[in-house]
Amino acid sequence: MTARSRSLPCASLSGTPPPFPSSRGCPPPLSGHPLSPGTAPGLPEGAAGRLCGRCLLTAPHGGRVPPAPAAPRRLPRSSLPRRRLPARRPPAAQSRGMASQRCFANRFDDYQGAAAAGPDAEAAVPLVTATIERILRELPPLGSCQGGLYGGVAGVAYMLYHVAQCPLFAPSRDAYLRAARRVVDACLRHQERGGGEADTRAAFLLGGAGVYAVAALVYRALGLPDFARPLGKFRELSEVCAPLSFLECGSDELFVGRAGYLCAALVLKQRLGMEVLTPAQIKSICLAILESGKQYAVKKRKPFPLMYSYYGTEYLGAAHGLSSILQMLLSYYEYLQPADQELVWQSVDFLMDQEQNSNWPPELGETIERENELVHWCHGAPGIAYLFAKAYLVSKKPQYLDTCIRCGELTWQKGLLKKGPGICHGVAGSAYVFLLLYRLTGNSKYIYRAQRFAEFLFTEEFKAGSRALESVYSLYEGFSGTVCFLTDLLQPNQGR
Ligand SMILES: [Zn+2]
Repeated sequence: MTARSRSLPCASLSGTPPPFPSSRGCPPPLSGHPLSPGTAPGLPEGAAGRLCGRCLLTAPHGGRVPPAPAAPRRLPRSSLPRRRLPARRPPAAQSRGMASQRCFANRFDDYQGAAAAGPDAEAAVPLVTATIERILRELPPLGSCQGGLYGGVAGVAYMLYHVAQCPLFAPSRDAYLRAARRVVDACLRHQERGGGEADTRAAFLLGGAGVYAVAALVYRALGLPDFARPLGKFRELSEVCAPLSFLECGSDELFVGRAGYLCAALVLKQRLGMEVLTPAQIKSICLAILESGKQYAVKKRKPFPLMYSYYGTEYLGAAHGLSSILQMLLSYYEYLQPADQELVWQSVDFLMDQEQNSNWPPELGETIERENELVHWCHGAPGIAYLFAKAYLVSKKPQYLDTCIRCGELTWQKGLLKKGPGICHGVAGSAYVFLLLYRLTGNSKYIYRAQRFAEFLFTEEFKAGSRALESVYSLYEGFSGTVCFLTDLLQPNQGR
């Protein structure tokens, strides 16, 4: 099946998720449990928010550049699979993007070299505030707390926490944090009652680990000593994800697997300023990820050292795929043995070699059909960009930055997505790539581009032509993630 004709899971725990007409390309999170109508990916500010894989992805080391490692060795070229040679140049950088069934035409002039105007906080703050009010109006009753950070109300608590950290919203800080606490307390009660599915206890984006992490952040921001309690619950989950195959569907990816758990620990460390896991716990989880990947690669006779699958599919992108797993291993680089570091670099270079005209197919071995390609955070260049940003920060090798820049060029052309305003497969997820590139390069072009994408979100063309949202409040598919992006755009140098 091609990427065009089938439905690709972003947040699905099930290989056969229930119908979810409003997000055909990316069905709902929990097996048999549609997303609660109402919350957003702000994560990857996350994953696109700061908590979200994205913020993380943006600056997993809190802006500090880790020491450069010894030069990694690459696999001999003869051991890599044959592939079509991609064009290693930005995709027609000066041209404007054409409309397709997946994206609007990008009719904005590209950056002309003048200094980009600073953020217009006077205009943007009321827009963000009004969007938050809309989200809060559309929250479901807090008895239902399924869906985790990705699509559940926990994502709204994260968004409120994220906005409350921004000085521009200081007058609303207390109100937002109190609202976040009400929501996250309900999520905690849901977890304590055993409301979460057993398989998602240690899940970052779809389950318990994400809920405990956000609770710790909100409590700490409110100055409550109680923040140690959810933090303790979070730590206990390291035992849950210790067994090599603790999930039948795949134990290593970002949404429910070990990479997500490590991602949450990284966010907690950055936001709380303290280590949450012991070095022994971190090493143990990294070793499990490595061993799992080695065993799978050997079993499937891959010509590269680390590979994973999720529900039997060998995804490459950020949502369930190789890129976010490798990104997390690079984020804990100092905990890896030199031989394992080398395996990670070989896998990063293998993934770089799978590029097809500045993009990657959702699954290993697929050929991209240009008219229908996925240019999403979940599947494609806008999510994989974060791996190469991290690889560049760790190694300082320019080819990784060049790859990241090509991802940004494609996103400028094809990132005005019709699937909504969100992070997972929407306009905010695209625009976060520009914030990432701005933080990497300091080039004002990227702020300009992020501002244009933000502007597009409020046009009649977008409102009339984008798909109706199933969940307005979702952190990854709805407006909570958009709010995180708009907040970060107001303080582009604050990204951590
Ligand atoms: Zn998606």
